[in-house]
Amino acid sequence: MHVTAQHVIRFLERVAAVIKEHRDELTQLDANIGDADHGANMDRGFSAVLAKLPTLADKDIGTILKTTGMTLISTVGGASGPLYGTAFMRAASVLTDKTELTPHDVTQAFEAALEGLKVRGKAQRGEKTMIDAIEPGVAVLRTANGTDEPFLAVLQRAVAAVEAGMQATIPMQATKGRASYLGERSIGHQDPGATSSYYIARALLDTLQEPD
Ligand code: ADP
Ligand code: MG
Repeated sequence: MHVTAQHVIRFLERVAAVIKEHRDELTQLDANIGDADHGANMDRGFSAVLAKLPTLADKDIGTILKTTGMTLISTVGGASGPLYGTAFMRAASVLTDKTELTPHDVTQAFEAALEGLKVRGKAQRGEKTMIDAIEPGVAVLRTANGTDEPFLAVLQRAVAAVEAGMQATIPMQATKGRASYLGERSIGHQDPGATSSYYIARALLDTLQEPD
């Protein structure tokens, strides 16, 4: 299976729609352990990305993802904007000039995105952030890379791992970001950023599963 620039455009359209649909839920999660703006931040950022997509229709995948990252950084005020922005820009940097991606390219892009995120946020797994959702998914992609398992099956397992990682943030105590100010009171709540990461991962799977 190959991922085309058209798939990437449809993926970003779907992310914008799904984030809007779950905006209140993301805000409520952030109200529990943060400052109740994650839904608004993500919706502002991906609505701005959506508005730019018509100008990107004939561009390569590196350019589309780089523009996405820059747009998120410039429109989202919260911590999540620079973090997701860095992730998209790092993915873009390993996909320069590509108009079609192999499963190997997709895996490399996610590895680069995760690495960029961890450096930018200085966070590791277990700190109750989006990394707790993303890293298990990337681990599935990495382990399956080069095997003959169909890529959609790999991606399904990766998204299931992201979902489990999101749920695993509930019992964690936050040690990064705003939620860390709460100390032990952050325990018992699902992390908002891990939740938006799950919706983004599922949007990719749903886009690639859709008939052309
Ligand atoms: P802010 O915290 O500035 O209000 P958001 O509410 O939009 O920004 O995003 C909060 C989310 O950002 C958290 O739920 C967490 O997943 C993520 N986050 C915060 N700090 C970090 C970090 N240092 N590394 C990774 N993710 C982080
Ligand atoms: Mg917030």
